[in-house]
Amino acid sequence: MHIFAIQSNDLLTMINLISDTVTRPTPEMLTAMLSAEVGDDVFGQDPSINRLEARLADMFGKESALFCPSGTMTNQIAIKINTQPLDEVICDHYSHVYQYETGGYAFNSGVAMHLIEGNNGKITAQQIEANIREDYDWLPHSALVVLENSCNKGGGSYYSLSEIEPISNLCHDRGLKLHLDGARLFNVLVETRESTQDIGTYFDTISICLSKGLGAPVGSVLIGSQKDIKKARRFRKVMGGGMRQAGYLAAAGLYALDNNIQRLKVDNDRAKYIGQVLQKCSWIQSVKPVATNIVIFELLNHIPATQCVAQLMQHEIATTAFDKHEVRMVFHLEHSDQDIEFVHQVLNKLY
Ligand SMILES: *Cc1c(COP(=O)(O)O)cnc(C)c1O
Repeated sequence: MHIFAIQSNDLLTMINLISDTVTRPTPEMLTAMLSAEVGDDVFGQDPSINRLEARLADMFGKESALFCPSGTMTNQIAIKINTQPLDEVICDHYSHVYQYETGGYAFNSGVAMHLIEGNNGKITAQQIEANIREDYDWLPHSALVVLENSCNKGGGSYYSLSEIEPISNLCHDRGLKLHLDGARLFNVLVETRESTQDIGTYFDTISICLSKGLGAPVGSVLIGSQKDIKKARRFRKVMGGGMRQAGYLAAAGLYALDNNIQRLKVDNDRAKYIGQVLQKCSWIQSVKPVATNIVIFELLNHIPATQCVAQLMQHEIATTAFDKHEVRMVFHLEHSDQDIEFVHQVLNKLY
């Protein structure tokens, strides 16, 4: 919120816990980008983009994939190809597609959201089943379910495959499509050690982000069937997302897939460690269960989140006021062990 008023130059030298989107490419990633082979991707002729798309399709056992500028775009295209106007999308009320995409579901697809109050951003097959509409002219038509894994506003909570399977079966039986907003999916898979192939079997379409914990500067990929991705290409174009020699960016994504997946476990472990530190702080009301690289905590009494964020800023630690009394911290590859110890010490003496 108010944090964005701070001089951006200052943020570059701070311990930045605002988001994992703040990660900048390393010299090694930049080297990989500079040596990328490129072409015009609107004509399908950028070898680096083609390689990235084929690689991700293959990882998830799908036929095809599409490189886009942002996760908002891959999610919006997924909603578009999986629905018709007057349809309804079922998702948790914390979902990024509902909360943080500028209401694009209505603007781009002419659909409504049917929100479910889940458990830290997670909904169950039973909840979904109870919310699928009957087939009457006067009711919106339930067409798509979106799951977010990990769930940002749920404090980085995640679904295991055993929770996803009954949801996938339900959608299949009832003729609904199932989309995965997997912006931070790899943070989940390093915890569960479940495979991308298995994830691929349960969803019609999957969005993953390269620009978060994976450390690429830009990019998200939508993964699905040949037919869906052919449609998706048209919508990417009409949204202005057809890029030309963007293989320089795809090369960063390929570098990230090769080098930055396994290390996400370090970020998750650091988040859990700081979560434990926070549990013991006298000025904290509660900490959402820490499952991956996000920590969300609620402040005791009536301490405003903006005040806590300002206090931390005095110590050169940048965080986000996530709600009136809630602060969010996100852990990523730019942090060192010393940074984490410093955060620990500051939290111990903050109030
Ligand atoms: C970051 C994020 C996205 C995509 O965001 P962009 O900034 O548009 O790339 C989508 N879903 C979730 C859960 C996210 O955290």
